[in-house]
Amino acid sequence: MDFKQHIKEVADYPKEGISFKDITSLMQDGEVYKKSVDELVAYARERGAELIAGPEARGFVVGCPAAYALELGFVPVRKEGKLPRETVRVSYGLEYGTDILTMHKDSIKPGQQVVILDDLLATGGTIEATIKMIEQLGGVVAGIGFLIELDGLGGRERLEGYDIFSLIRYE
Ligand code: 5GP
Repeated sequence: MDFKQHIKEVADYPKEGISFKDITSLMQDGEVYKKSVDELVAYARERGAELIAGPEARGFVVGCPAAYALELGFVPVRKEGKLPRETVRVSYGLEYGTDILTMHKDSIKPGQQVVILDDLLATGGTIEATIKMIEQLGGVVAGIGFLIELDGLGGRERLEGYDIFSLIRYE
């Protein structure tokens, strides 16, 4: 299936010079959405996932249905202030300023094989922060799966040493 044709590219969004890859057009088509998640499910299974983690909000769009299909738990990675119980936190650099991601402290068991799923890999900052928290909690990052990978922004290099799968690539 040609998944790429279901991604809409939006010029100058959210600001000038950015070509935003919109996944809502893929999600709108039931068959395409299911088949794309199925690919991530197959990847997570192959990597021996015991738990799925995904950053808000689009990581939930792919991570939750994948966890459901695999009958595994899903762990949300959220911006600061959104999780109600005790958390671990990591601050990470954005183009302008920094942001903070958090996870519940009891979300991962030591040694657990965790597969991270998200919609898109760009610079890798979001996933790097996610990896830090998972490892701090004693989890093992068994693989990282994306619908989309943007080449040339250094994401894959930044995550060197980790297994990465992506369904669609852009130069
Ligand atoms: P990174 O941390 O790798 O630089 O950026 C990836 C994160 O930013 C992902 O969680 C993703 O949701 C969001 N993101 C950045 N650019 C795009 C884009 O063009 N399309 C979509 N759907 N998400 C993007």
